[in-house]
Amino acid sequence: MKIAIVGAGIAGLTAAHDLIKNGHQITIFEAADYVGGLAAGFKESHWDWSVERFYHHWFQSDSAMLGLIEELGWSDQLVFPRPVTVMYHKDKFYPFDSIPSALMYPGLGWGVNKVRFGLVNLAIRFTNNWQALEKFTVDEWMRKYAGDKAYEAVWEPMLIGKFGERYARQVNMAWMWARLKARTPRLGTFTGGFQAFSDQFAAFLKGKGVQIRLNTPVKSIQRNSDSGLTITSSFGEEIFDQCLVSSSPSLMARIAPELPKQYLEGLLNLKSLGAVVLILAIKHQLSKEGYYWFNLPKKAGFPFLALVEHTNYLKPDYFGGDHIIYCGDYLETDHEYFQLTQEEIIQRFTPSLQRINPEFQPDWVKNAWLYRTQYAQPVPFINHSKNIPDIRTPITGLFFASMSQVYPWDRGTNFAVEIAHRAATMMGK
Ligand SMILES: Cc1cc2nc3c(=O)[nH]c(=O)nc-3n(C[C@H](O)[C@H](O)[C@H](O)COP(=O)(O)OP(=O)(O)OC[C@H]3O[C@@H](n4cnc5c(N)ncnc54)[C@H](O)[C@@H]3O)c2cc1C
Repeated sequence: MKIAIVGAGIAGLTAAHDLIKNGHQITIFEAADYVGGLAAGFKESHWDWSVERFYHHWFQSDSAMLGLIEELGWSDQLVFPRPVTVMYHKDKFYPFDSIPSALMYPGLGWGVNKVRFGLVNLAIRFTNNWQALEKFTVDEWMRKYAGDKAYEAVWEPMLIGKFGERYARQVNMAWMWARLKARTPRLGTFTGGFQAFSDQFAAFLKGKGVQIRLNTPVKSIQRNSDSGLTITSSFGEEIFDQCLVSSSPSLMARIAPELPKQYLEGLLNLKSLGAVVLILAIKHQLSKEGYYWFNLPKKAGFPFLALVEHTNYLKPDYFGGDHIIYCGDYLETDHEYFQLTQEEIIQRFTPSLQRINPEFQPDWVKNAWLYRTQYAQPVPFINHSKNIPDIRTPITGLFFASMSQVYPWDRGTNFAVEIAHRAATMMGK
C-alpha cells in the first residue's frame, strides 16, 4: 500500500519502520525542518552531544522504546546513569527518587504519615487494576489512603505544577498509578542525545526506502469518492491508500474536518497543557551537591515547576564544558509565559536560581534558548478511558495516534513507540 504518515516524531518514525518492514511504500510529511518531534534536540558548534529542547530521558521500564533500540541493534549506544532527584522543603532540597529516600524526606513529618506514604506507594506499584483507580481523582484517593499530610507535602504540589490550579484536583488516580508504576531511578539517554537517535533512525528508514519530507506541513486530508485519501501539502495533492496522523488532536481536527461530528467533538474535548522551557548554558555548576532534577513547589514562590541540571546527569565535557540547565513549566496556552520574550522570561526565572546556589550571578549565563509548545501534557479526568479516540478513525484508511491516546500511561517516547506499533498493526490491510 501507499501510506502517508503525518509527523516525523518518535511515533511517526516507528510506524514507518513497522510498515516498511511489511512491504508498504511510506512517505512521511514533517512540518519542521528536523525529525524527532517533541523529543528533538539542538547542538551548538562546540558541543559533541545535542540538548533536547524539552528535557528528556528514558526509564529502565520503557520496554517498547528499549525494545525498538534493541531491534535496531543500537543498545550499545544507550547510557543509564543514576542522577539524583530532589524535593523542596523549607528552603532545602532532599533526595526523593526511591521509597527509602522518600521516607527520609522531612516534609512528610514522622510516624504514621510515613507509614501510610510507604504503604500507598507499595500498593500502587503492586496493583495492575488502573480501571478501578480512574474512577477517583488523585486528590480524593490520596487524601483518603495516604492522608492529607503526605498528599499535601508530595503529590498536591506536583499536580499543581503539572496541571495548574485549574485541573490539578480533577486528574484521575490512574494517571498517578501509571506515573509511579513506570518510573525507575536510573535514567537513560542515547549516546549523542535524543536527536542523535532520531537522526540515526531517520537515516536508517531512508536507507530502507522511506521518503521523509521535512518542511512539509500537511494542509488537509480528504476522503476520495472511490477509494483512498487525498493529502494536500506543498507537494500538491497526492493520493494515498492510507494515512496515519501522529500529531495533536487539534491538528487532526483541523486537517481532517470531514471526520464525523462525534469523533471530531471527541478530539476537541480532550484537554492538554502546553510547556515553556528556558535552557541556559552557564559557566559553573549550579547545584554543588550535584543534584539533577529539582521539583519546585509554586507555593514556595518558584516561577517554574522543574529545574533540571542536565550536566549533573551527563558530563559537561559533552557540551564543550558548558553547564546546561533547564527551567521548565507546564501551563495553559493563554498563560503570559507564552507571550513574554526570551529576555523577559530570563528576568523572571533567573533570580530564583540563587535559591539553589546563592553564588549564582546573571553573568554566569553564556547563552539561552526558549522553547514553547502548545501541546505537551494531556489531562486525564475521571473515567478518562471513555474519552480516548480510536486509532482507527471513521474515515476509511485514516488513522490517528497521539500522546492523548496512550492513556492510562502518561505521555512519553516509550508510549509513542507503543501506540505506533498498535497503529501499524491495524494498517496496511
Ligand atoms: C516538556 C516535555 C518533557 C518531556 N519529557 C519526556 C521524557 O523525559 N521522556 C520521554 O520519553 N518523553 C518525554 N516527553 C514526551 C515525548 O516528547 C512525547 O511523548 C513524544 O515525543 C511524542 O512523540 P509523537 O511522535 O507522538 O509526537 P510529536 O513528537 O509531537 O510528533 C509529531 C510531529 O508532527 C509534526 N507535525 C505537526 N503538524 C504537522 C503537519 N501539519 N504536517 C506534518 N507534520 C506535522 C510535528 O512537527 C512533530 O514532529 C516530554 C514532552 C515534553 C513536552
